[in-house]
Amino acid sequence: MILGIDLGTTNSAAGVWRNGRAELIPNSLGHLLTPSAVSIDDDGKILVGLAARDRQVTHPERTATAFKRYMGTSRSLSLGQTRYYPEELSAFVLRSLKADAEHYLGETITDAVITVPAYFNDKQRKATKRAGELAGLRVERLLNEPTAAALAYGIHETGRETRFLVFDLGGGTFDVSVLDIFDGVIEVRASTGDNRLGGEDFNEVLIRMMLESCRQQWHLPDTPRSELLYQRVRAEAERARRLLSSEEQTTMSISWNDKHAEHLVSTEQFERAAETLLQRLRVPVVRALKDGGIDASQLDSIVLVGGATRMPIVRRAVTRMFGRFPDSRLNPDEAVALGAAVQAGLKQRDAALNEIVLTDVCPYTLGIEISEVVAGVGLRGGLFAPLIERNTIVPASRSKQFSTLTDGQTFVHVNVYQGEARQVSDNVKLGELKVPVPPRRAGEVNIDCRFSYDVSGLLEIDVHVPLTDERHQLVILDDEDGTQREEVQQRRERLAALKIHPRDQDANRVALSRAARCFEESLGERRELVGRWMSQFEAVLERQDPREIEMARNAFMKALDGVDGEVFL
Ligand code: AMP
Repeated sequence: MILGIDLGTTNSAAGVWRNGRAELIPNSLGHLLTPSAVSIDDDGKILVGLAARDRQVTHPERTATAFKRYMGTSRSLSLGQTRYYPEELSAFVLRSLKADAEHYLGETITDAVITVPAYFNDKQRKATKRAGELAGLRVERLLNEPTAAALAYGIHETGRETRFLVFDLGGGTFDVSVLDIFDGVIEVRASTGDNRLGGEDFNEVLIRMMLESCRQQWHLPDTPRSELLYQRVRAEAERARRLLSSEEQTTMSISWNDKHAEHLVSTEQFERAAETLLQRLRVPVVRALKDGGIDASQLDSIVLVGGATRMPIVRRAVTRMFGRFPDSRLNPDEAVALGAAVQAGLKQRDAALNEIVLTDVCPYTLGIEISEVVAGVGLRGGLFAPLIERNTIVPASRSKQFSTLTDGQTFVHVNVYQGEARQVSDNVKLGELKVPVPPRRAGEVNIDCRFSYDVSGLLEIDVHVPLTDERHQLVILDDEDGTQREEVQQRRERLAALKIHPRDQDANRVALSRAARCFEESLGERRELVGRWMSQFEAVLERQDPREIEMARNAFMKALDGVDGEVFL
């Protein structure tokens, strides 16, 4: 069975195609969403999910979250003494989803479809694929998140021709895609986005508000700077922001080093403070419509995806933008995982799905660096020559001919870039290839350059020199992609050697991590009370009686609800 996985910035989810429908898989706690958080505990065991997320507050130096934002870069994050690449941290999340699925389905899972933001570039896609490999999964396909959402929605459409826009605002990324469904074909006409915009940025707005309030109430000259305080304020901002999805106003409160501060915030204040972010949502929307060559009035519907679209201020902004209400038939944070499960079903060639054909687009323009001869000036280098234009339907293969520029030239450097700018320096370099050519006069040697882009967003470059009939394929030489098979294998072994916290004890771990956070966040009597509950629960754990543990844990969690409200995902 193939596992469909939504590897999100904030939360991840997995699903399968079973009995003719897409089905999400609950984790060991019975939740459909697993926070994309990883932490290492004192005895070196890895924690993933809710327990890890709570440790972001109590043990920020041993915990990593939102690492999807750094996917495909060489930036590493530390868990205690050891540093990990974002793809390794993602591998822990994938391993945990895999284990949950295996437990739930009672069979071993070896293959997966993993979703990525449509805006992800080649490096980010390759890193995601490697994360899958590191988790022991063969990645059958990377699927663009909006395409997955379209599958989740589109599957319910029977025969009717529709055109819609997917507005996907998650924890850290924003994607906009225009899709057509006709005769059983789902086609992405245009896909744009901003991979630095999401719910976290809306948290930042409330964090700034709260920290400024702390400064004023504690009579400080500057806003206080402390990682621990920041993490606490962040957790409080997240809670407040979610409450503002159902209430008109809420109070953020913080206790810190014997001091306490409160800040009342209303929906209107939040909307005003987030105005710049709400404006930024327009940019990719306008571009997607323009690239797709359609007018907003031609859209049959606007579909909301991503947990952050639950925010009423975002829904209002969307309604204003399009002059009508968006559609949110599916749970916005489950749609992508459901779509990945549909795609997994397609891969398994399930009879019910045979009819659906999926096409996709390449999110960026891909091309090479060229130089031009400018009259009176000479050679002007560093210019971008596109081969595959953004929003070309993939798989795509395009070829262009180039020729030598100087007399006696013995090499042609093929530098590959992606991006939209005319100067290559403003685009992202993907790799380079040095192609030997026979020395001739300038312009006498031609080279044919072919770019092939597959459905997973992976690029191959093929260079042919007709004069010598030699062919060269691109070996991408950047730091990340230098990672050879062997190295992936070694890293997989290193990660596999790390013990994941036993799955059957997850619920206890979650209770203890949460209590530790509540302990740190409370003061006085309330703190003492939490401390006593912790000791009592630890004593029960030591007695190792599963029934007693379960009863004590339920009571413990209920008591904690009274301290910090219900747990959110
Ligand atoms: P996703 O990446 O789709 O899981 O979305 C995660 C984002 O959705 C996070 O930024 C959450 O804060 C946000 N989110 C989830 N539920 C709510 C809610 N009820 N109100 C506001 N934001 C939410």
